[in-house]
Order: sequence, then C-alpha cells, then structure tokens
Amino acid sequence: MTDVPKTHPRYLSLTLRDTIVAGVAQGITSVHGLIAHGRGEAFDYLIGETTQPFAIEAIHAAAAMLRLAKHPVISVNGNVAALVPDGLIELGQVLNAPLEVNIFHTETGREQRIREHLLKHKARSETSPANVGVEGAPDVLMPTTEAQLSYIDSNRKFVHPDGIFKADVVFVPLEDGDRCEALRKMGKAVVTVDLNPMSRTAQQASITIVDNVVRTLPLLCKEIREFSDSTAADTVSQYSNEAVLKKALQHISRCGNG
Ligand code: ATP
Ligand code: MG
Repeated sequence: MTDVPKTHPRYLSLTLRDTIVAGVAQGITSVHGLIAHGRGEAFDYLIGETTQPFAIEAIHAAAAMLRLAKHPVISVNGNVAALVPDGLIELGQVLNAPLEVNIFHTETGREQRIREHLLKHKARSETSPANVGVEGAPDVLMPTTEAQLSYIDSNRKFVHPDGIFKADVVFVPLEDGDRCEALRKMGKAVVTVDLNPMSRTAQQASITIVDNVVRTLPLLCKEIREFSDSTAADTVSQYSNEAVLKKALQHISRCGNG
C-alpha cells in the first residue's frame, strides 16, 4: 500500500486505488480491471463522490426487487471481489442468496483465487460447508460447463445450474453490457451498480444504481433489512430506470455549469 496521508483531499479515492492494485497483485483482479476502475473514478468525480438522490431512489427499488425475488444470485467479478468482499457476503446473508464467480478475462486460477478470497472473508464453501465461514454465510458457486447462458459467446456464458442459470433476479455490479443484455433476453431481472449512466449495462439493466459500489453495498444491505414486504411490490412497479438515469445525466451536466 502507498503511504497516503489521511489529510490528503483525495484520500478515499487513492485508498481505493491501492485496494484494486492489491487485487491485481493477489491475482484476483484482472489487469484490465484497472482500466474499468479508472473509468469508474472519472464518473465518480463528476457525480461528486457521494451517493446522490438518484442512487438512493435506485437502491430503494433494488432492495424491494431483491426482497421479492424467489431466487436472487449475486454475481462476483475480480473488481468487486477486491473492493467489497465483506459487503458481498453481507448481501448474500441478508438475502439468503449465493455468490457466483463470473469473470470476463479468463486467466489460469483466477476464478479459484476469487473463491478462496471470498472464503477467507467468511463465505461458505459449496463442497465443504462445515469448514469455513459463519452460520448463514452465503455459498460460493463456480462457473460450470453444465449450464450456459444463451445470447453470449464469452467466458461469462458458463454459469452454475443452481445459481445464475436459474436466478430470477441477478445482482451484477460493474457488469459488461453484453452479458447484461443476455440476462435480460433470458427473462431475468438485473440489478447493477455502475458509475457510468451511459454504459450499455446501465441502459439495459432493470435497476441501475449510479454510485460507487463501495458506498452502495452497506446502504443496500441496510435497506433490505428494513424493507416491509407490503410496500415492496408497489415500489418496484412505480420505479422507472429511464427516469433515474436521466436524473443522473442531468446531475453530471449541471456539474460543468457551476
Ligand atoms: P458496458 O460494457 O456496460 O458498455 P464499459 O464497456 O464502458 O461498459 P466495462 O469495463 O464493461 O465498461 O464495465 C465497467 C463499468 O464499471 C464502467 O461503466 C465503470 O464506470 C464502472 N465502474 C468501475 N468501477 C466502479 C465502482 N467502484 N463502482 C461502480 N461502478 C464502477
Ligand atoms: Mg463493456
């Protein structure tokens, strides 16, 4: 880790940079993930590096949708595994949903290293549930050749038959547009976290939380815990992702006008 003083005006942002660089050094995050992170940083700068009202609105709807889901699954890539391992496990716990490793850039052993990293952070092993983790901790599912997503050619089509393959709602932070589109075409609802309101993922998802995933996860977990089922269905039906993305874009364009 670099020696960033806490008084530095960009302390948080620089700390996150260190975390993602450490993810690459540990073989969890792809080197391409650094570029994705940089793109995220640029949008976070424009958003003001805080959770804005359009993100709060999307988090509220996402909590409702995830609470109503029959089979929610949390998709994990190399960036989120490095940035928010504890947040992902907490979300799995509150939803009683598995985590599933799914990455775009295949490098030998990276999927396994992500799995081991999550287990170190107290997720449960599918093959040996007794030996790691805490009670109620989510399982970590791995991609298989037994189940494949349609409409997609990359490595990300390989999924787990009891995970993303049969999910009705998939939580996929920092997603690639291609797979988001494929999941939607397969009739699944997609909740994403993406700092770029113009990305294909942001445009295709059912609910897009335009915020940094490190800020979103604690808020989302809290919101899910506090949600009452009686209002969840109304919240989802009244939500418009298009309107929320428009608010995010308006916010960004106002930043430039002082
Ligand atoms: P798409 O394929 O959806 O059009 P893209 O090709 O522009 O997106 P990808 O590399 O596929 O980008 O996905 C990474 C996305 O994640 C980017 O839109 C980036 O802004 C966003 N992102 C990066 N870091 C974070 C973060 N910490 N929190 C939220 N979003 C992030
Ligand atoms: Mg992409």
